[in-house]
Amino acid sequence: MVRFLDVSKEYKSGTRALNGVSFTISDGEMAFLVGPSGSGKSTIIRLINGETKPTSGKIMVNGYNLTSLRRSDIPYMRRTLGVIFQDFRLLEKKTVYDNVAFAMRVIGAPRRHIAERVPYALELVGLTDCASRMPDELSGGEQQRVAIARALVNSPRMIIADEPTGNLDPARSVDIMRLLEKINSLGTTVMVVTHEKALVDSMSKRVIAIDSGCIVSDGTGGYFGYEE
Ligand code: ADP
Repeated sequence: MVRFLDVSKEYKSGTRALNGVSFTISDGEMAFLVGPSGSGKSTIIRLINGETKPTSGKIMVNGYNLTSLRRSDIPYMRRTLGVIFQDFRLLEKKTVYDNVAFAMRVIGAPRRHIAERVPYALELVGLTDCASRMPDELSGGEQQRVAIARALVNSPRMIIADEPTGNLDPARSVDIMRLLEKINSLGTTVMVVTHEKALVDSMSKRVIAIDSGCIVSDGTGGYFGYEE
């Protein structure tokens, strides 16, 4: 669960990126965050991830109060999140299997657990047959599915996808959205930041729209009157 209560963020430069933002994404929900470039979407992701602190307001992420969170607790809070990026961010010199396994090795997961979870995650994203390939032997859509498997493998409570289809053609983009929907239906909360209006409209999910650091609409079913 993510809750923002009257959150404002002013960067040192003086730019006010968020202005009194409040919203809650409940456990099990899938929501889109949309808005023009510079509206504050990345700032929201950085705040959730604990990369930056709000100037005022309160942020709760999966039971952690980020306002009072100790620095040493940030890694534990982050383990409740799986993050997916537009540019996939795979390790180019590791196989698909090792890219996913690496996410478990860095947190010291037992070998037996890794041997169970990695094949499960690869099966979930439909890449069982690609386990021994290198990332550059995969299409963009397949690479993003590896990134999704990696984000999922440690069983986070929430997946945050930052423009996950920004580098993909429309057919692959639909596949990725459907996969995120499937992951949500299996119980993981999902938040997707995207510009893809047609895709968002086709999904009939909650859409939170932000403009100039303020939430301008929040409801189910599409972009509403919002236009870029
Ligand atoms: P979006 O992700 O919707 O494009 P951002 O959250 O990146 O929007 O940016 C919101 C505003 O904050 C913009 O005016 C941007 O220039 C500014 N901004 C973002 N990051 C920083 C930063 N690290 N320092 C100063 N200003 C920033």
